[in-house]
Amino acid sequence: MIPLSIPHLSGNEWNYVKECLDTGWVSSAGAFVERFESEVAKYVESPYAIAAINGTGALHIALQLMDVQQGDYVIVPDLTFVASCNAIRYTGADPLLMDIDPETWQLDLDLLENFLQEQTIRNQDGTCRFRRDDRIIRAIMPVHVLGNMVDMHRLMALARKHGLAVVEDATEALGSTCQGQHAGTFGDMGCFSFNGNKIITTGGGGMIVTNDQKLAKRAKHLTTQAKVSTEEYIHDEIGYNYRLVNILAAIGVAQMEQLPSFVLHKQEMDAYYRRHLAGVGDIEFQQISSGISSNGWLFTVRTRRMRELLHFLNEQGVQSRPFWMPMHQLPMFASSPYIQTGNQADQVYQTALSIPSSTQLQETDWARVVETIRSFFN
Ligand SMILES: *Cc1c(COP(=O)(O)O)cnc(C)c1O
Repeated sequence: MIPLSIPHLSGNEWNYVKECLDTGWVSSAGAFVERFESEVAKYVESPYAIAAINGTGALHIALQLMDVQQGDYVIVPDLTFVASCNAIRYTGADPLLMDIDPETWQLDLDLLENFLQEQTIRNQDGTCRFRRDDRIIRAIMPVHVLGNMVDMHRLMALARKHGLAVVEDATEALGSTCQGQHAGTFGDMGCFSFNGNKIITTGGGGMIVTNDQKLAKRAKHLTTQAKVSTEEYIHDEIGYNYRLVNILAAIGVAQMEQLPSFVLHKQEMDAYYRRHLAGVGDIEFQQISSGISSNGWLFTVRTRRMRELLHFLNEQGVQSRPFWMPMHQLPMFASSPYIQTGNQADQVYQTALSIPSSTQLQETDWARVVETIRSFFN
């Protein structure tokens, strides 16, 4: 089986984990957590990084710190992994689903701009309200789907104009940039994931980045049970046990050492697939806008024969998977508002298929994937 996207642990993971085991520093204290935080901060050029239990927990904390609360809305693309919307729900808010651009498969910024212009009003207190029900729209959560990005400068300008906070779901986009600036560092807060299928992994883990020292302190506080004293058990608010343990951070430090080479490898793979799959059947690629550099996390194509091709590839030992079912089709979010232009999210969902993108794969593997896809269309 040529794997879709699996962990690649060929660096210092074993040494650093051994160090944790030898010294007994396996749990919530230990030097690797801070080291991992500072490595990620340095890499994405953000002043602050706060480790978290996973990407979903990171999103939850970031939203809470943006003051997202019961009854609010958070604008989020309809085509995303369910965790984006689940994190919104954890705060008591509801997702305000927005359609995507059918070429880039990201939040449709023209639609967003039009929506904010036509369907919201700015209240006396500065809050942005959805005209339909007068509820507060507190934030936008752009999701950098597959490592691609929208023009984040444009998105930030729209958000600021309408008084909205921005939490970036950059869980798939570590290493992606917009005009040279890293995904996750445009918004008030950005979140990464180190789940097993992501570009680097700690088994499970996450990270919040921010430019704001106060928010960084608050994020650390909330992810570590809101303890106010190092000695005594005194807590000043409801906190969470969302810390990343040292033994996992140790894996993260080793993975960060390899991240630049992983990004290069994925980008080479991306170029290879685009070159060799161009013109095969009715295959179309995700469009990457100028100024964006994608980390090429998970190569995905569109074809009208997606279901057939999916089964064929999996039978042939080429691991493939469909996209996420759009959020408006899930029972939990079926009653959330969905702002759309011809339901592009569904059209992409019906046709998109991800193919093997693991960093272990070499050109011979890519060639086999391409040959198998060609044989399907012949
Ligand atoms: C992976 C992912 C998450 C959640 O990250 P976990 O670490 O698995 O909790 C959230 N949003 C998107 C778009 C993801 O791909």
